[in-house]
Amino acid sequence: MDAEQLRENAHKMVDFIADYYKTIENFPVLSQVQPGYLRELLPDSAPTQPESLQHIFDDIQAKILPGVTHWQSPNYFAYYPSNSSIAGFLGEMLSAGLNIVGFSWITSPAATELEMIVLDWLAKLIKLPDDFLSTGQGGGVIQGTASEAVLVVVLAARDNFLRRVGKNALEKLVVYASDQTHSALQKACQIAGIHPENCRMLTTNSTTSYALSPIVLNEAISNDITSGLIPFFLCGTVGTTSSTAVDPLGELGKIAKNNGMWFHVDAAYAGSACICPEYRHYIDGVEEADSFNMNAHKWFLTNFDCSVLWIKDRTALIQSLSTSPEFLKNKASQANMVVDYKDWQIPLGRRFRSLKLWMVLRLYGLENLQSYIRNHITLAKNFEEFVTQDPRFEIVTPRIYSLVYAVNSTGKIFISHTVLSGTYILRFAVGAPLTEESHVNAAWKVLQDEASALLSTSLG
Ligand code: PLP
Repeated sequence: MDAEQLRENAHKMVDFIADYYKTIENFPVLSQVQPGYLRELLPDSAPTQPESLQHIFDDIQAKILPGVTHWQSPNYFAYYPSNSSIAGFLGEMLSAGLNIVGFSWITSPAATELEMIVLDWLAKLIKLPDDFLSTGQGGGVIQGTASEAVLVVVLAARDNFLRRVGKNALEKLVVYASDQTHSALQKACQIAGIHPENCRMLTTNSTTSYALSPIVLNEAISNDITSGLIPFFLCGTVGTTSSTAVDPLGELGKIAKNNGMWFHVDAAYAGSACICPEYRHYIDGVEEADSFNMNAHKWFLTNFDCSVLWIKDRTALIQSLSTSPEFLKNKASQANMVVDYKDWQIPLGRRFRSLKLWMVLRLYGLENLQSYIRNHITLAKNFEEFVTQDPRFEIVTPRIYSLVYAVNSTGKIFISHTVLSGTYILRFAVGAPLTEESHVNAAWKVLQDEASALLSTSLG
């Protein structure tokens, strides 16, 4: 690594990225390329001789950017937000610059200790119970994704249980969640060896706004116990992916506790809103949870990836995931004086991801972060108002289905869809950092225009 070359090239890269953000609205939000487009544009094999950075920039402009869907565009309203910010970007840069691999405390004490401190800060901002702080038996850990977070807690819960009831019980263990729960749970159960027939994705409907009903949960648990099965894991969601439904954590948690089950709360998307006192009530009942997860990389201005998992009893994770080969042994670990995050996650290696969260918290401060969330919620409310004023958007017919595709192929905005109770629904998720009122207004116009065009074609 030649430091001067780094300086020169990195400046060019920063200029390139800054220009990208300056012109981001010029791109179609959803990439309009066809599958396989890139193979036709790039050579069959890697170059034998070095190429110039300028040549690569030219290729990025001409060949890569057309195949990019612009998640940071202010006109991006699909799936869920995946925020980037200057603070998050700077943290990522520093992390890439230091490029440490902080699997054990000894491999970079600052990486482990900063992660513990910053996650305690964040836990306090969203008012998690003290049991989740690293100063007691619990603590936070940054995972790559909510999928990894739920996987590690399913494994911890499974092993905790099997240690008590014996390994042969594995095929009797049952997992509960609502049918709105993210498929990440299903994947975690597959990996953890939970019998596929023992994953209860309990039916929800519009009467509970797609939240999991404690009555339905209790019934399912009783039936399973009667059949000789063993309830062991419950996942509640705050802000489901399809419709941001909120499960009643307090009631669900009590049921979990009464049945000796592990209770995990997935607040991957909506958890960030809890920094605002007026939205904190959505996680009331979290005291009952054993683990809680939110993705700072979704709606908390922290560049991907940064999924924060807090756990009340860290030994449960460690008992499931720790290994101690000779080549990793060191005094601090042996003396049990430190946290070794390798024992809280699937991989060994890990990046210095707390830097970017630390930068976000310090460079913006709580008040700005709260305003950021509140502004998006106001914009979403404005949009809701538009929709209620246009009766065409209350009528759901198969022809409207193509509205998503018609809208997205304009390249002006990008939205996504879901199905609830058999009804096809357009999702409009406000949460990109650059989105302002004018973008939401313009997006509504695009939706109205495309609806008019579709309806006139289908009627004519
Ligand atoms: N849980 C919820 C509620 C989500 O909204 C998502 C993403 O959409 C996930 C889990 C999965 O997130 P990840 O990509 O971090 O695994």
